[in-house]
Amino acid sequence: MTIHPTRIDDVGERELLRRLQLRIPEAPGVPVGVGDDTALVEVPSPALVTVDSLVEDVHFRRESAPARLLGRKALAINLSDVAAMGGVGRHAIVSLCLPPDLELAWVDSLYDGLLERAAEAGVAIVGGNVSRSPGPIVIDVTLIGESRGPLLRSGATPGDLVVVTGELGAAAEGFRLLEQGARLDEGGELAAAPAWTEPLGEAVELCVWAHLDPRPPLVLAGSLAERGLAAAGMDLSDGLSSDLADMCRQSGVGALVDAMAVPVAGPVLELERLRGGDALALALHGGEDYELLMAVDPGDFEALEELARVWGVSVTPIGEFLEGPPDVRLTDADGGRELRPGGHDHFAAGEGPAE
Ligand SMILES: [Mg+2]
Repeated sequence: MTIHPTRIDDVGERELLRRLQLRIPEAPGVPVGVGDDTALVEVPSPALVTVDSLVEDVHFRRESAPARLLGRKALAINLSDVAAMGGVGRHAIVSLCLPPDLELAWVDSLYDGLLERAAEAGVAIVGGNVSRSPGPIVIDVTLIGESRGPLLRSGATPGDLVVVTGELGAAAEGFRLLEQGARLDEGGELAAAPAWTEPLGEAVELCVWAHLDPRPPLVLAGSLAERGLAAAGMDLSDGLSSDLADMCRQSGVGALVDAMAVPVAGPVLELERLRGGDALALALHGGEDYELLMAVDPGDFEALEELARVWGVSVTPIGEFLEGPPDVRLTDADGGRELRPGGHDHFAAGEGPAE
């Protein structure tokens, strides 16, 4: 060990783990937290359990994603899945695969983000693992949650409204902007942006933030599940066109979406107008919005809208579920067409890094 360790290989895995363990606070419902062979936790019954990972050069690039925001996102994407099942996150386990030449300061910042996001969501980090990676950084989080009323993908019936929370497309726009050189500084302010975006600095910053620090509507999700206000639900991670197709397949219904009703995020409209691009396509296929997609009985929509207003979340009906084969159709000014899944598929041939 050197006198002033700055990299992981200056301290070794065991010392790094000890260093991280010291930062994790004790929590109620966790008789034994980090440090023993396993954690001992009071698990809700039945429990929701999920896992998701962020892989360098697949989901993020080290030069454009600040470590603190990656920590926040690694937890947020799991919180989003638990919320989309109608639950609330409780206990998280964090597994890190890290190259030995990585700066300790980077790992400290990652943990700043993880602990900050965990505190915001009322989640206790109860265990973890650190392994050496021969190359990319991998951040893997397992989350245990408490169900408030199961919200399955298979519950949509003909006549239900297709409803989304929030606005769509900003995260996908943010990813593109990062690929084109947009950067945040340490404080999270916009430090660089592609030249063509010059008149729209604020829009660039909002989209980059949407990509790097997603804010799923966690409280609304648990609350609406408790009240039974949605018949089916899932989070929008792969893109509306892919995710809605999956809900249709699992529910055995079709869907008709009104292109004019899709809530495209304002900054995306501004940027795509300037670029001469297609804002609607980003909202339909972009992915990583981490908003909720739901099937809602028309008789429940008003109550849902009222509840969403309490939590400061917008809910928008964008179409209807129909009897028939599990296809999604889109109506727009040109008439109607089939909406083919165009979102992210990690194993699709020719897939480039992250989206
Ligand atoms: Mg999901």
